[in-house]
Amino acid sequence: MTRFVMVIDTRTCIGCGDCVVACKTENNVPAGLNRDWVVEATRGTYPDLKTEFRSERCNHCSNATCVTLCPTGASHHWKDTNIVLVDPELCTGCKACVASCPYDARFVMPEGYIDKCTFCHHRVDEGLDPACVSSCPTRCMHFGSLDDPHSKVTHLLKTREYKTLKPETGNDPNVYYLI
Ligand code: SF4
Ligand code: SF4
Repeated sequence: MTRFVMVIDTRTCIGCGDCVVACKTENNVPAGLNRDWVVEATRGTYPDLKTEFRSERCNHCSNATCVTLCPTGASHHWKDTNIVLVDPELCTGCKACVASCPYDARFVMPEGYIDKCTFCHHRVDEGLDPACVSSCPTRCMHFGSLDDPHSKVTHLLKTREYKTLKPETGNDPNVYYLI
């Protein structure tokens, strides 16, 4: 399985939300719904406190509970990768995946099927970065394959300290935050 990851530098993210706007535009996400969002958190212990901005989305988990628990096969891994997609034709809207996602990454579309971030697989298929990554004004977001020893994401994860969100769930998330 090709492992596509997103590596986001929380030290250079300024919380501007351009990634959110780029995603909505690229993917025609309806008003009031979001495939990605920015979280403002506090890092450190008093009095050494810092603000941390995190651009969050589906983690395209390698061991995705949403895929395992989907009764129809609508939620699936794309090709031979960790990218998780939903087939609207197969989705019955039962919400088993919504309940099983530890990251609250899924929502119901007005048509009744479930939707979420796709890592812009249509762009990845053409060798492009996801729209959010391309639009970031501080270039704090990086996308690529961990199978490529020479990729930027591989280099960053070898040389920088990082964390993933809720690793204890066992879902094996693929969005990394440099800290
Ligand atoms: Fe599924 Fe949630 Fe993981 Fe995305 S973050 S792959 S929706 S379990
Ligand atoms: Fe699968 Fe759709 Fe049910 Fe989610 S809501 S588990 S994608 S059938």
